[in-house]
Amino acid sequence: MKKKQEINCVVGIDLGTTYSCVAVWQEQHCRVEIIHNDQGNRTTPSFVAFTQNQRLIGDAAKNQAAANPQNTVFDAKRLIGRKFSDPIIQDDILLWPFKVIAGDNDKPMIMVKYKDQEKQLYAEEVSSMILTKMREIAETYLKSNVKNAVVTVPAYFNDAQRKSTIDAGVIAGLNVMRVMNEPTAAAVAYGLDKRTDYDGERNIFVFDLGGGTFDVSLLSIKGNVFKVKATAGNTHLGGEDFDNRMVKYFVQEFKKKNKVDISGNAKSLRRLRSACERAKRSLSFLVVATIEVDSLFQGIDFSSSINRAKFEEMNMDLFNECMKTVESCLTDAKMDKGRVDDVVLVGGSSRIPKVQQLLQDFFKGKELCMSINPDEAVAYGAAVQAALLSEDVKNVPKLVLQDVTPLSLGRLIHGDIMNVVIPKNTCIPVNRTRSYIRVQDNQTSDLIEVYEGERTRASDNNLLGSFTLSGIPPAPRGSHISNVCFAINENGILTVSANNNVSGVLNAITITSHRDRLSSEEIKKLIQEAEKYHIEDKKFLRKAEAVNALDDYIYKMTNTLKKKDINLKLSSQEIQQIEDAIAVAKNLVDENNKLVEIEVLEDHLEGLESRMNHIIAKTI
Ligand code: ADP
Ligand code: MG
Repeated sequence: MKKKQEINCVVGIDLGTTYSCVAVWQEQHCRVEIIHNDQGNRTTPSFVAFTQNQRLIGDAAKNQAAANPQNTVFDAKRLIGRKFSDPIIQDDILLWPFKVIAGDNDKPMIMVKYKDQEKQLYAEEVSSMILTKMREIAETYLKSNVKNAVVTVPAYFNDAQRKSTIDAGVIAGLNVMRVMNEPTAAAVAYGLDKRTDYDGERNIFVFDLGGGTFDVSLLSIKGNVFKVKATAGNTHLGGEDFDNRMVKYFVQEFKKKNKVDISGNAKSLRRLRSACERAKRSLSFLVVATIEVDSLFQGIDFSSSINRAKFEEMNMDLFNECMKTVESCLTDAKMDKGRVDDVVLVGGSSRIPKVQQLLQDFFKGKELCMSINPDEAVAYGAAVQAALLSEDVKNVPKLVLQDVTPLSLGRLIHGDIMNVVIPKNTCIPVNRTRSYIRVQDNQTSDLIEVYEGERTRASDNNLLGSFTLSGIPPAPRGSHISNVCFAINENGILTVSANNNVSGVLNAITITSHRDRLSSEEIKKLIQEAEKYHIEDKKFLRKAEAVNALDDYIYKMTNTLKKKDINLKLSSQEIQQIEDAIAVAKNLVDENNKLVEIEVLEDHLEGLESRMNHIIAKTI
């Protein structure tokens, strides 16, 4: 038996687009443990579903997806920190069975029906529900409260996406100690045991192809120091895209065979998609996979097959895109591929044989490392980082993790030019200050517009925010106007401040609120909502238990009446009493009688037991 621990445990959470995973550093055994969920699974689908009477998260949500497609939400990570009008989101919306609309400030809002009422959810809110589930999984297993966590994000996540992930943690009641880059976490998982075997520096290339995102990173390990040299990736490339290709292919085939188009039917598509995902997985081990969906559309069964070559052909452009990203990461790091010592595979989609072959060919036949479980590596590394950051944990190897910024950061200067202050792949945390001059005579204010991205024209990049430094004493063109400082913290989050050092004017302004980010008021409201959901979930469970208990008692009474010699044991009056009690109880547990309060059910059972138990006892 585990003792209830006094200290708060710290965990690592891989908040994936399609699957999430939670892990903890076990102090006694000096190793990481992956925590299984209530279904016994080591990863949990990043799904949340709403029904007429309850909210479901994880396996329970995914399992009912085909029956309730409009109200089953997944892929929230793709929405996080993005605008509704983002072309990437517009493309996604076409494929999602749930509805997404534009909210305030062009923020995407997910529409679901919960208890017969329309509800609008922020992506952060959905992510927070998944984080809550992961927290509860850990709390059940550890028999302890979990408050602090390291949450991972794709290395390519921008400032807004990182901040939104932290917000999701706050809504879930978690203190996100650090947002860690997924490939760094995977490299830690891979290198933790190996690092002592190496003499000198080892270059590790992490290839993470998951469900929704693709990330690569080049790291070096020397002793206890893990240093990221470069990262690259695509926030919109992964297993789901391969599934989509297959779905499209079979929709066409179904159309050809049966002269009906199922592409508008969310339920059929969801069922076909599940079958395609299964087929895709088996194609990693077999050369042919079959697809069988009973009564896919209008009662028509669907049965077909697909071979590995066809699957590879329909996705070849996507696979090639992955290889281009691999190449650009090495170019950024100025490293010849021959100098890479280990290529580590992470993410469920890295099991696809063609992907492995292309990668192996690229690295001139090098053996790929498969010693770590691609589904668990990220959570594993996050748990190590969490332990490192926790004061209570003593015996974790003292690793030093050095990460880099994924995108260049700078400000717009005269002529719409992107003036880069922190180039991409700079080690973080970092502070850089630049001095700027007046472009006009007697200019007394400086508008600072902060962008991230690699394009020369500032407006082609992503605007993060802006502020004006004003009240500066006039001076001629060409003279100093401002010092602008860009600071990135350990989480990869940026703060920009500015001042003017002439004439003693010292005016520092920081970008604190982000246009795309939830306000503290909104977060407060969402925390209250989360609490409401939590109470409702608990209430639902209590009610279900009360209904079940009453149902059991009805069964018991009914069985009593069925006994052979019942007329000898009970008077006709007693029999009548039982019959009446059954009728009343049946009415209470009736499906249509949803409004019955939990207390009514519980009290009724209690009264029933005290009245009936002694009568039933006579029959035993
Ligand atoms: P994420 O981190 O994006 O949530 P994961 O790393 O958990 O994703 O990978 C999930 C993806 O991996 C899904 O698209 C799933 O279909 C795919 N996948 C899992 N196992 C296999 C396999 N054997 N072959 C091909 N794809 C797989
Ligand atoms: Mg992942």
